[in-house]
Amino acid sequence: PNKIQMKTPLVEMDGDEMTRIIWKEIKDILLLPYIDLNTEYYDLGLEKRDETNDQITIDSALATKKYGVAVKCATITPNAQRVTEYNLKQMWKSPNGTIRALLDGTVFRAPITVDSIKPFVKSWKKPITIARHAYGDVYRNVEYKVEGKGKAELVFTSESGEVSRHTIFDFDGPGVIQGVHNLDKSIASFARSCFNYALDTKQELWFSTKDTISKIYDHRFKDIFDEIFENEYKSKFEEAGISYFYTLIDDVVARIIRSEGGVIWACKNYDGDVMSDMVASAFGSLAMMTSVLVSPDGNFEYEAAHGTVTRHYYKHLKGEETSTNSMATIFAWSGALRKRGELDGTAELVDFANKLEKASIQTIEEGVMTKDLASLSEIKDIKVVNTVDFLKEIAARLEKML
Ligand code: NAD
Repeated sequence: PNKIQMKTPLVEMDGDEMTRIIWKEIKDILLLPYIDLNTEYYDLGLEKRDETNDQITIDSALATKKYGVAVKCATITPNAQRVTEYNLKQMWKSPNGTIRALLDGTVFRAPITVDSIKPFVKSWKKPITIARHAYGDVYRNVEYKVEGKGKAELVFTSESGEVSRHTIFDFDGPGVIQGVHNLDKSIASFARSCFNYALDTKQELWFSTKDTISKIYDHRFKDIFDEIFENEYKSKFEEAGISYFYTLIDDVVARIIRSEGGVIWACKNYDGDVMSDMVASAFGSLAMMTSVLVSPDGNFEYEAAHGTVTRHYYKHLKGEETSTNSMATIFAWSGALRKRGELDGTAELVDFANKLEKASIQTIEEGVMTKDLASLSEIKDIKVVNTVDFLKEIAARLEKML
């Protein structure tokens, strides 16, 4: 049979543990039989990162800048235990952090929804996407523990030596202080990534901070978003029939709970951290969350939101059967292939990606699923399958659609 051809290579970033096993199975069972897969392969598995002194991660990010679309497998972020386990030269940084820094991107997370798994929030009918700013605030803080009486000040010294000084607090006794920052440039990148993603997915964009309390810091975020929207995106949004609005985070919380979903909620770093976990839990499972990094100049890196599922990997190594949910990794591939197809004008590739997603969802809706979903599903007659059989069940349905 004629396989689907790809014009431009897709940047492929392989990873670790159970997701590395799944990665190969997805390719063998769901992709290679139908697509003449044209990828530029980067092995981000921990051994290779150690061997190359992490250069491979940097190279994969640069390749993403060159070609525009990447698909990434989950990877281990080493901690002290991993340094021993893998006998590492050093505690390499998180690959996601490295890639994000080089692409200057924003992460968008959205759940894969299936009919038989109802969100805990009854009104939610469509996925809610959380856009999280990935720079600064409390993640780059400077903290200080005050031991006793004294005065805390905020001091800024400009390059030319002018000093501005504000009292934070006159302490009478022990307490704590924290200094945080953000950059206009990073906030502007965040804003452009959000506006681009909203246009790309044709969804409304909501942005929230707490600018009634944080009158300079949070207000700066609001102003930068407003300015970029007015100057660069307003007419594009009108053409696309979508809207952008800014409101207080408390207001969004109230609105989102009563909404049908189908919107993008842009959050500051900490808010996005918390709210994306809330959205994942309310929609059912981390194994059903997709994630895409979008850079302000239009590069896309698709991945699953979950990690390498270490527990299942150790079972797999012992020769025990696993039932790992591959949905988010499949959707990383379908998302990347669809985007590649859109950019290259290859309609067959876009069609394949759509059908792969449809076949995957249909499999779960027909009651065939991995163990993690069994307790969440409303279907009476559930067939729990192992990791590979789940992919084969999808392949059987995909075969019929193609
Ligand atoms: P994890 O996402 O692998 O697992 C968290 C929990 O969710 C576990 O109980 C796991 O069994 C369950 N789970 C997650 N995905 C599942 C799936 N597809 N099917 C069934 N169950 C699933 O996170 P963790 O255990 O905190 O971390 C494991 C490793 O993954 C760590 O080394 C960490 O550094 C790495 N990690 C990588 C990424 C990434 O590459 N984006 C993200 C998070 C964690």
